Amino acid sequence: MRTQRQVVDYSLRKRAVLRELATGRVGAYDVCDASPYLRSAARFHGETTDERCPICRSENLTHVHYIYGDELRQSAGQARSLSELPVLAMTLREFQVFVVEVCLGCGWNHLVEQFLLGRDGLVGGTEDGAGQDAVGGSATSASAAGPAPRRRREAQR
Ligand SMILES: [Zn+2]
Repeated sequence: MRTQRQVVDYSLRKRAVLRELATGRVGAYDVCDASPYLRSAARFHGETTDERCPICRSENLTHVHYIYGDELRQSAGQARSLSELPVLAMTLREFQVFVVEVCLGCGWNHLVEQFLLGRDGLVGGTEDGAGQDAVGGSATSASAAGPAPRRRREAQR
């Protein structure tokens, strides 16, 4: 998404949890504890991924996007489908998105990443775009320089 910024990736932490599970320091009961709320959020708003669950390996993981931010008011903390996020990103100045992966089979769940979305992120984007526009703009003004002397001749008449 265009306004995505301040991305925090939690894949290292996930790998650490999986390692602890493999060594028996953490039990499957501790990590496969998806709440009923998370499960229903995954069912209604989740995005199915191509990734197999690292625990049961029988279901694909579902990504749930939770949104937080003052501008969201009563919607803060709710799960939203991925397709709703670009609309919100153009409407709101800034909000936080937490992506949680869930297995609807065994209940494995883990934070995947977090990032900011919203119109405030367009400041950097438009600066880049303005740079490109300036190059295009100077090319346009160079070609527009053609009729200018004619106008000057007309003025002399
Ligand atoms: Zn699973």
